[in-house]
Amino acid sequence: MNEELEDLLWRIRLDGEEIAERRRFLDWDEADARRLNGAAARLASSQQAFVERLYAHLGQFSVPSALLDNPQLVERLKHSQGDYYRRLWIGPFDEDYVRGRLRVGMIHQRVGVALKWYLGAYCLYLNDMLAELFAGHPERELFASLLKAVFFDMTLAIDTYGAAQIRALEDSEARFARALRGANDGIWDWHIGLDRLYVSERWASMLGLSRDAIGETSASWFGRVHPDDLPGLRQAIDAHLQGRTEFLHHQYRIRHHDGEYLWVLARGVAEVVDGRALRMAGSQTDISARKRVEERLEHAARHDPLTGLANRTRLDEQLQRLLQRKDRGVPREAALLFIDLDRFKLINDSLGHTVGDRVLVEVAQRLNRCLRPGDQLFRFGGDEFIVLLDGMSCVGDAERVAQRILEQLHQPLELDERTLVVSASIGIAPLREHGKTLDALRAADLALYRAKEAGKAQFARYSEDLQVTVRRRLELESALGQALGRREFELHYQPICSLDRDPPELFCVEALLRWRQDERLVSPQEFIPALEESGGIVEVGTWVLREACRQVRAWQLRGQPQLRCAVNISSRQLQQAGFVPQLIDILQETGLPSTSLILEITESLLMQDDAMTQVSLRELADLGIQLALDDFGTGYAALGYLARFPLHILKVDKSFIGGSPHDGELSAIARAIIGLGRNLRMEVVADGIERAEQLAFVAGEGCHYAQGYWFSRPRSATEMDRLLEVADFSGVGRAAQVLGDRP
Ligand code: C2E
Ligand code: MG
Repeated sequence: MNEELEDLLWRIRLDGEEIAERRRFLDWDEADARRLNGAAARLASSQQAFVERLYAHLGQFSVPSALLDNPQLVERLKHSQGDYYRRLWIGPFDEDYVRGRLRVGMIHQRVGVALKWYLGAYCLYLNDMLAELFAGHPERELFASLLKAVFFDMTLAIDTYGAAQIRALEDSEARFARALRGANDGIWDWHIGLDRLYVSERWASMLGLSRDAIGETSASWFGRVHPDDLPGLRQAIDAHLQGRTEFLHHQYRIRHHDGEYLWVLARGVAEVVDGRALRMAGSQTDISARKRVEERLEHAARHDPLTGLANRTRLDEQLQRLLQRKDRGVPREAALLFIDLDRFKLINDSLGHTVGDRVLVEVAQRLNRCLRPGDQLFRFGGDEFIVLLDGMSCVGDAERVAQRILEQLHQPLELDERTLVVSASIGIAPLREHGKTLDALRAADLALYRAKEAGKAQFARYSEDLQVTVRRRLELESALGQALGRREFELHYQPICSLDRDPPELFCVEALLRWRQDERLVSPQEFIPALEESGGIVEVGTWVLREACRQVRAWQLRGQPQLRCAVNISSRQLQQAGFVPQLIDILQETGLPSTSLILEITESLLMQDDAMTQVSLRELADLGIQLALDDFGTGYAALGYLARFPLHILKVDKSFIGGSPHDGELSAIARAIIGLGRNLRMEVVADGIERAEQLAFVAGEGCHYAQGYWFSRPRSATEMDRLLEVADFSGVGRAAQVLGDRP
């Protein structure tokens, strides 16, 4: 009640100044108080009698009589009414008096006594006093009538003011309600001192409740807030109440009737009087939909859409977090696995990106299966994945995980009717070594490089000397750029023999590129990939073609007219628009007949299946040049390609020959490939023949030609000259034996 009274005083601004002004207007002075005081005792009994009359009079009207049906209540009211009349005469008319009047007014208003009864009672009282003081006065009746008329008018004036206020309030409420409906926000109003909470219908319905179902204290609000969010909300409210924030503006979760939590935004402002917050009011907006979008965006920024795995951004964050945590001395090992699929480009190029994507998704799932709870998997990009291992007792644990991954990935992968075998190389690096933080990503990348270099499908661990290897690789790349200008390239030639005759006869030589670097002869396996990557292969390849054609033409003129020349061609060469005209120039320039030239291409080149490749191959075939498909069986080629392109020769890859004839499975594949080539009317070359039984096997299967250390290793042109002399233009096998090539 007191709080409410204060509130009322503040609202009607009834301070000392206002009270004084009201008195001044009524010409009230001390003499008035003295006069009333002096007459108080004289009128006491007649006032008491008036109280009785008043209640009897009120009983004649239905509304007040309904309010006065309780005799005890009536007695209490009569008593306080009497008190009031006494006080009216004796005063003092101070602040306490004013508060007393306001309090009584509030009670009357609250129990439902309308103003007309309230003011009417004053008029009756004055009339009664008039009769008492001016009994027998000739004008008494007249003044009584005037009083009635004036009081009647007073009720009308008050009604007019009240109605105007009510209308303004209703208008503003209607406007407010419309705005609220438009904003779809809930409204709350919290009287802090009284802990009385008002919430709007919308506030409640947001939580699946009706307004009646929500209690009237703040507990019914805070009790629904998510336990994790409650301290934050309280802090935000306190910060505002203490004047540290201009508004309350806070997001938190609140429980819906169905048990789920909604995200809401509460906005509000406190009403502060004399530095004291009396109440706070504001709105509440359901922001769950926006939060969901934010969460989706947040997720998208940190995840790969194809596999659903966390991405590089997330990896950076996690690495950072892990390093910071380790800095505080948690004694567990953490390591990073850098996983790269072997030859994934081949799958993409030959089977298309849709298949490539499906392979990546399957790989992601397999990787996930290899991990323990707490390990984290990321897609780093393309065919690269990262695993972050934490909480290991030693870095050796990481090797066991890597081994598991290699085994899992190597299981055949069924895609529709296709079975693929993929493998991966893995680089392992600890997050710290010798107490120092490593750039683990770079270190694992170096280790990966080592695993690839060592033959792929394996893992390698980071070590400091890897840095040296990498430096070498960089140096190699830079030296390679200058090798052609410095005339450091040379060609070696390896015989390919015809098996139609016994002993086999020299049919062709394959030109194989070598790089002489500081007395060291670098193998093409070491530098061709780097040349392919830099594009340098185009220029070097042109040199190879010209040099090989020139050399073989020279041998032809020196008594080997039937000798053919096989040259390896990279796909980048063939994709050059001017490749065919340039080749025609080289043939003319060197004098090598086009029918003496064999170009060796790989499966992956065919799989690109672009118009330019098709046209170039057709033009080459029309020129009489023969096309050989190299390393057959190692790619993912669909066999349909064999018929689509003008291919003349099939080279069975040495990986199938190596195990023959003892390895049943490999022999079966070699046999099938040879049979396939023959049935397609292609000439078949078996590559990598190292032993007599291998030769016997491929010859028995009907292979037309063979190449391998059994006959001769690749030799320099000078050595080849000697071989040709000794061999007497045939019987290369015998010649190699003489020259000590054969084991
Ligand atoms: P390739 O075209 O399959 O060449 C055959 C490779 O097998 C050669 O390796 C050869 O030395 C090796 N080889 C031959 N017989 C045997 C054998 O009995 N046992 C074993 N273990 N290996 C044998 P090399 O010379 O190291 O060449 C490797 C690859 O580099 C070539 O494979 C070819 O793809 C590429 N290459 C070589 N020269 C050139 C070139 O001028 N241009 C292009 N684009 N690629 C080239
Ligand atoms: Mg070749």
